[in-house]
Amino acid sequence: MIYDVIVVGSGFSAIAVTCNLIERLPGSAAIAIVGDDPGFGRGTAYRTELYLHRLNVPAGRMSLYPGRPRDFVDWLESRNKRLQESDFASRSDYGLYLRDTLAGLLRKRAGRCRVDFIKAKATGCVERYSATFGFQLDNGDEIAGKNIVLCLGVGNASLPVEPSGIPAPGRSRIVRNPWRLSWLGRVASSDDVCILGSGLTMIDQVLALRAHGHIGRIDVLSRRGLAPLGHVKVPPSPSQTDVQTLPDRISEILRILRSKAREVEDWRAVMDGLRPVTQALWQRLAPDARSRFLRHALPWWNIHRHRVAPDVFERFETLVGDGTVRFRAGFLKSIEMGKGGVFVRYRVRGRPDIAEIRTDWLVNCTGMERAGIGHSPLLSEMMRTGLIAPDPLGLGIEVNDRSAVTPASQNSGGRLFAVGALTTGQFWEITAVPDIRVQAKAVAEEIVAAN
Ligand SMILES: Cc1cc2nc3c(=O)[nH]c(=O)nc-3n(C[C@H](O)[C@H](O)[C@H](O)COP(=O)(O)OP(=O)(O)OC[C@H]3O[C@@H](n4cnc5c(N)ncnc54)[C@H](O)[C@@H]3O)c2cc1C
Repeated sequence: MIYDVIVVGSGFSAIAVTCNLIERLPGSAAIAIVGDDPGFGRGTAYRTELYLHRLNVPAGRMSLYPGRPRDFVDWLESRNKRLQESDFASRSDYGLYLRDTLAGLLRKRAGRCRVDFIKAKATGCVERYSATFGFQLDNGDEIAGKNIVLCLGVGNASLPVEPSGIPAPGRSRIVRNPWRLSWLGRVASSDDVCILGSGLTMIDQVLALRAHGHIGRIDVLSRRGLAPLGHVKVPPSPSQTDVQTLPDRISEILRILRSKAREVEDWRAVMDGLRPVTQALWQRLAPDARSRFLRHALPWWNIHRHRVAPDVFERFETLVGDGTVRFRAGFLKSIEMGKGGVFVRYRVRGRPDIAEIRTDWLVNCTGMERAGIGHSPLLSEMMRTGLIAPDPLGLGIEVNDRSAVTPASQNSGGRLFAVGALTTGQFWEITAVPDIRVQAKAVAEEIVAAN
């Protein structure tokens, strides 16, 4: 059979697209969802069971549906978890909400389109001349569909420097994917841990280590030694910014924003005011201004924009304050196994000196955000055959402002879309729920309109 829509992926983006499609497609339509994740809908972000792994966006902005802002808060309430819209729910509750919402739609059978879940990894894709795309799956099957939505998220970034001289037993001391939380069970309570990268994933891993009884030292190495800042319990009212009045040069834009931040009581008001206009601002920037932003301003943008829940921040700050977590700023040079552990050498930021950290465990938290195409055999294959192209900055794949993949859909009239972080080059802020849900709805509406 030929599906009307194939959704590839099994995280939030896939659920959001699917829920919007189910609500809109006629009963005669058929959707296939191809995902390799056992906890369908949770993806990397909402799979965790640890309560301290909290959402970093308040509950009132985490509804699956942009037009029904209280949906998640109401769901929590229906489970006797009374939270304010400004509270930060646990990520595991959010994963349950996503699965429950989808299950609720699937239970309503009358007039609903067919939905097939296929537990597999898509490994290749060809465009056919009959207005369809065919997918090869790793279980040997093939499926075909008229509309495709790629919801692959981003893979785990690889280690910035490959370890050398590490015999097989030592390799397990290097945790390449910290989201496989089983590594925590192998860490002895007094082991030293070195974390590469100082973003949200690092904070999650530090708190997970403590929750597992770890009392040893934790070194955090990143280029600038900057860590995410915290939300405040009572958020300030957003201070609006008119994108049209901003200049074209990044340095000028940043100067204006910094001066606005000095004028308000809390700089968060300026960051929060930028949120609704960030995509428009990004799309206005010339390519060289975008790359200048990535080169010079990205670490500061990330720590101010992607903040952690207030109590999570407080807890983390206590660990920094008592010396448990120590920040090192520098450029990783080498990772080697030696007598007594793993040795991480780095050039100290702003100096020619090489410093060394001896550790029992090295954990790669260098990020999920910018893994590009290389991490995915499917995307690499689609790029080889010309179905997709990387965006000019290598942040993901090229799509137009309707999230349609631009090099594809030209031969057969088949339609290929991408949702989520893969479209960062076009939209920039498209990694969190408040942005992805708008995109997922728009893509679903476009598919339904053309069906
Ligand atoms: C630890 C963490 C915490 C976060 N916290 C928040 C938060 O509090 N609030 C917020 O708004 N955002 C948060 N985010 C951002 C988060 O990325 C988005 O909210 C959202 O989960 C992204 O979902 P996704 O479906 O696009 O990607 P993912 O969740 O990465 O899902 C992609 C899925 O596609 C599957 N897949 C990949 N390739 C294939 C293939 N070839 N075939 C089949 N399946 C494939 C993967 O296995 C994966 O399950 C967080 C992210 C992380 C990593």
